[in-house]
Amino acid sequence: MEKRDYYEVLGVSRTASQDEVKKAYRRLALKHHPDKNPDDSQAEGKFKEACEAYEILSDPEKRTRYDRYGHEAVRSAFGEGGFSWGDFHHFSDFEDIFGDLLSSFFGTSFRTSRQRATSAGRHGRNLRISLTISLDDAVMGKDEELILHRLEKCGACNGTGTKDRTGPRTCPRCQGAGQLRYSQGFFSINTACDLCRGEGSVIDHPCHVCQGQGRAKRKVEVTVRIPRGIDEGMQIRIRGEGEAGIDEAYRGDLFIVIHVEEHSFFKRKGDDIYCEIPITVVQAALGDGVEIPTLHGSAKLRIPPGTQTHQILRIKGQGMPMDDYSTRKGNMYVRVIVKTPTRLTPRQKELLREFNKLSKEKPVSGDGTKNFFEKVKESLGQMKKDVWGE
Ligand SMILES: [Zn+2]
Ligand SMILES: [Zn+2]
Repeated sequence: MEKRDYYEVLGVSRTASQDEVKKAYRRLALKHHPDKNPDDSQAEGKFKEACEAYEILSDPEKRTRYDRYGHEAVRSAFGEGGFSWGDFHHFSDFEDIFGDLLSSFFGTSFRTSRQRATSAGRHGRNLRISLTISLDDAVMGKDEELILHRLEKCGACNGTGTKDRTGPRTCPRCQGAGQLRYSQGFFSINTACDLCRGEGSVIDHPCHVCQGQGRAKRKVEVTVRIPRGIDEGMQIRIRGEGEAGIDEAYRGDLFIVIHVEEHSFFKRKGDDIYCEIPITVVQAALGDGVEIPTLHGSAKLRIPPGTQTHQILRIKGQGMPMDDYSTRKGNMYVRVIVKTPTRLTPRQKELLREFNKLSKEKPVSGDGTKNFFEKVKESLGQMKKDVWGE
């Protein structure tokens, strides 16, 4: 069947304003609405035609394209499947066009049924808190007692929200549906019940503690297991320890964000621990075994002979615990700082001078032939050659 011209369908001129288009559509939609003309296929056809014409002509961009190129350039959203209420509602200005009719039913402004509280909105909220622990706590793990102020089932009304603890009664207007179906003439529309605001129930005498919410803030104690090896910024989730839901809806969860305090001696990097210890020149030169503190008590550190300052030595298995279930641990890395002795006694000075004398007789560098100063002189000589071309 040949499509009729959209302007002809709405009975407006090609220069009609948006307002004129809207008014023409409204008049036709009311006249040919299927609810008003049951089993009248001709009326239904005209109604669909008007909707389609309005969809195109009410949109300035589509209208321009239609004016230039005709039907082929604009594809209606109402495909071949026919018209449904869902299509009808997809006009964003539905309320704008028919709002005054609807207001006359309700005495208030038109609201859609989408405002009915969803069950998801009744679930308890998640709670998020942050907890600062020491590095020792992170090493050992611990059970932490937390004090929370969270929404719990109201004790005064036993969660019913009503003074007499009997709970809300079914809304007399919508019979608990939360929605009202209005049919006046051709109109048949679901909207949120305005008496119960879509809840489906009403409270005559609200509980004075929770104001009818059925929930009130209460102080509770929760014990949390802080697992061994937990690190800065990690999060512990405890299901069901968030706020209580409304009625029997799910409780929220509790999230605990962990902050680990900086330790004055140990620094952590993943499962490994880093620290620095001072050693003497003699320990560095001759080697030694020293007892040093670790996260787990103490351990023996072997300093090999000839250790240089800032050298890093490893102690296996003295780092962070890797989890709460096993004994696996990271490593500990110790940076040794060689301290030059100060405030020497005359005898110590004498020994060092003697040591120095012996050092001059033997090469210091250990390559067997040249000492450090000879090497420096040599490299300076090389530099001179490079610069002066000698
Ligand atoms: Zn109601
Ligand atoms: Zn209460």
